Amino acid sequence: MIEKIYTIPVNEVFTAKPCSCPLCAMKERFEQDRIDYVLGPALMEPDVRTATNEKGFCPRHYAMLFNSHKNSVGLGLLTNTYIETVQKKLSGGMRHRSDKDLAAALEKMNSSCFICDQLNFTMDRYIDVIYWQYANDKDFRQLFREQDGFCLEHFRQLCARAKKGLPGKMKGEFMNDLCNVQSRKLAELQADVDWFTKKFDYRYKDEPWNNSKDAVQRSIQFLKGKVELN
Ligand SMILES: [Zn+2]
Ligand SMILES: [Zn+2]
Repeated sequence: MIEKIYTIPVNEVFTAKPCSCPLCAMKERFEQDRIDYVLGPALMEPDVRTATNEKGFCPRHYAMLFNSHKNSVGLGLLTNTYIETVQKKLSGGMRHRSDKDLAAALEKMNSSCFICDQLNFTMDRYIDVIYWQYANDKDFRQLFREQDGFCLEHFRQLCARAKKGLPGKMKGEFMNDLCNVQSRKLAELQADVDWFTKKFDYRYKDEPWNNSKDAVQRSIQFLKGKVELN
């Protein structure tokens, strides 16, 4: 049985039917939870500090930690010991390694993130829950069909592991439902974007905007997940 810490967020978000990718909504919730954790109780846990010193944070999560303004001194402490760790690697690297080895060590340091590691693991578990619920619960199958579409990255992830995650006889139905959800959403967005562009043509200037004023923003966010647009 899959642990409740993974099933609860999936069921809550699917039941709420957000007007965007449900997996992006789960991702956002989990990221926020991790930001609070890193700046809260984890600060004084030696094991966590060793991990944050080693892995650091990607630009997105470092910016989220800062922008939360929840614990400036805590983020200062994390940054202080992270710089110390990078310094040690650099001085060790300069003594013992070739330029190439040092570049490889920097590449490793630059591509790791304490929060991304946990996020990737958890998102995989959420997708396992989606497969499991889809295969075993007809109410969930209905909820799945009623979602408002998945961003392209989460669409890809749902396709990529479907064969492994679903019993053979359910895979075809799942892929069919998934593609129907996606194609319904794409058709709706395309019609709105098309109308948006037509509204710049003098022949349509007196026609109503309908649902097209924010069609480009909604399309970007549907295709690319939640990105900040001003
Ligand atoms: Zn998404
Ligand atoms: Zn990250």
